[in-house]
Amino acid sequence: MENAAVIIVDMLNDFVTGDLKCERAKNIIPNLKKLIEAARKQNVPVIYSNDAHYPHDFEVVHKWGRHAIKGTKGAEVIPELKPTEKDFIVEKRTYSGFHETGLDPLLRSLYNGEGVKTVILGGLHTHICVRHTAADAFFRGYKIIIAKDGVEAFTQEDHEQGLKYLEYVYNAKIMTVDEIIKELSAKTGG
Ligand code: ZN
Repeated sequence: MENAAVIIVDMLNDFVTGDLKCERAKNIIPNLKKLIEAARKQNVPVIYSNDAHYPHDFEVVHKWGRHAIKGTKGAEVIPELKPTEKDFIVEKRTYSGFHETGLDPLLRSLYNGEGVKTVILGGLHTHICVRHTAADAFFRGYKIIIAKDGVEAFTQEDHEQGLKYLEYVYNAKIMTVDEIIKELSAKTGG
């Protein structure tokens, strides 16, 4: 797991308790908390990839309706997973965390300019934003790990199909949070 970074996708109030709430999102909060805390401890960068919409964004108007409007409470990371000063927040305006954002240059600048090689993805939703972020990571040559108990979707079927697709198409390694933490600490001997 060389030069890893944890990317937490859309764990925002609107996706967990607000306008686009996903009941199943609650299941992954403790796991993500564990993953984020372990990463911080091992000096593995933690990056929040957050929807921060204008009300006239295409996907707001043409697909999902109002959610995660920039500057509102709904667009903030849920209190349980609150970012610290050491973490990075990269705002996005559609599914992929890479689409017209500063995520790629950020990843390439980390590890003293060696760049991140492996992205560990968690958050919402397995088959939408996680999937599109994984696609763009794959196109840019990053290895991908999916925290299977750290991602969720609106239904079990969406979630399972999402995982299968990620594994098959982007060669993503599907691991539990505990397995990921074990590898992270083995790597740094911590
Ligand atoms: Zn959105």
